[in-house]
Amino acid sequence: LLQALPVKLETSEAEKELLLSTMKKYNEAANWLAEQAFHLKLANKIELQKRFYYQLREQFNLSAQFAVRVISKVVEAYNRDRSIKPTFRKLGAIQYDQRNMSWKGLDKVSLITLQGRIQLPTRIGEYQKKSRADRIRGQADLIYRKGKFYLIAVVDAPEQSEFDPVGVLGVDLGIENIATDSDGQVFSGEKVEQTRQRYNKRRRILQKIKTKNSKRTLKKMSGREKCFKRDVNHVISKAIVSKAKGTTRAIALEDLSGIRQRATVVRHTRQRDRHSKWSFNQLRQFVEYKAKREGVQVGVVNPRNTSRECPKCHCIDARNRPTRDYFKCIECGYEAMADYVAACNIAARVPVNEPMAVSVFTTTASHSPSGRGS
Ligand SMILES: [Zn+2]
Repeated sequence: LLQALPVKLETSEAEKELLLSTMKKYNEAANWLAEQAFHLKLANKIELQKRFYYQLREQFNLSAQFAVRVISKVVEAYNRDRSIKPTFRKLGAIQYDQRNMSWKGLDKVSLITLQGRIQLPTRIGEYQKKSRADRIRGQADLIYRKGKFYLIAVVDAPEQSEFDPVGVLGVDLGIENIATDSDGQVFSGEKVEQTRQRYNKRRRILQKIKTKNSKRTLKKMSGREKCFKRDVNHVISKAIVSKAKGTTRAIALEDLSGIRQRATVVRHTRQRDRHSKWSFNQLRQFVEYKAKREGVQVGVVNPRNTSRECPKCHCIDARNRPTRDYFKCIECGYEAMADYVAACNIAARVPVNEPMAVSVFTTTASHSPSGRGS
């Protein structure tokens, strides 16, 4: 089994600048090559190499190894979906392998940059050293997150076990949408919403009729509705877990009691109707077991005021929520969609997430049984 092991790198300001400019060039080159590949409808590695290798090297000042990696990156992305031109973020990951990276023991790693190799001290925790670092394989992605560089190294794992996250994906359940994460992604589409409303409407009508026949229809419908919710919950939980895994992050959720608490303070019937009948409990369970299966850590946080706190200045006030789905801070004026704000607060409530801090989550989880959370 292969797993991701994040290794934090220590850099001086100059080294940081060098890595950043290398990253920019690398992704600039990838975007340029994607343009060519898409234009020519060409997703063949050898053919692309033949045509563009030298141009990549000259135009972008890339080393031979980087040119080859850029070609692989583009081919891989383009083959995933041939109908769209792949685009890469300005500071997207750089792929390293045995040819452009070498480990000096476990305390140092040497990486190729635009200006030759640099050697950087790594920070691997004792726990990681013992457990998995000796199984580091030849590939790693260099990523930049919140001002720091990490190598996400690929390691052989004897069995599926949790990976150490870099960062947290906060997930809010049920303010306006079924699930929204701290990247601002909403996990329930228009179609789900329409189907759900159709069920609600039909139920209301049938409940008014009160004949034998309508009761039977109602019962049948409730079975189908249950299946629908289950399917949707499976799709949403899968998307959340695979996103967290793909970006080497942990997942943070509110303590379940938070949803019930919040549902009782919702005043408008129409809005309460919107989600009150959704099975958030099931969705949560799905997220938890899928996360466990994929080695993704799940942190549970105190739900108090997650929808009232400003993620920028931390002002907590009921007036920060002028409407149900909208957030505007009375102190600093920060504004955003309410469920996105809540998801950001949920993510931030998981304590500092240094990759080596594996004990972080046991401390988070231990607060809920003690009753502080509710
Ligand atoms: Zn504020």
